[in-house]
Amino acid sequence: MRIHADQEKCCGAGSCVLAAPDVFDQRDEDGIVVVLDAEPPAALHDAVREAAAICPAAAISVTD
Ligand code: SF4
Repeated sequence: MRIHADQEKCCGAGSCVLAAPDVFDQRDEDGIVVVLDAEPPAALHDAVREAAAICPAAAISVTD
C-alpha cells in the first residue's frame, strides 16, 4: 500500500488523524495533513482505507 495525501485539497478536518493516528498527522500551524508513514504495515491498512473514505475533502488516495 502506498498513500498520497493532497495538501492542496485538505481542509484540515482531522478525520484521518482520528482514524489512523499512526499514519496521519496535521501541521501545527494550519492543520493540513502530513503523512507519517506513506507505506504502512498491513495491520494499518483497514484504518488507512477508513481514513480515505471519511476524508471530507477526498484528499487521501491509496494504491496497492
Ligand atoms: S481528513 Fe482529509 S481534509 Fe481532514 S485533515 Fe485528513 S486529509 Fe485533510
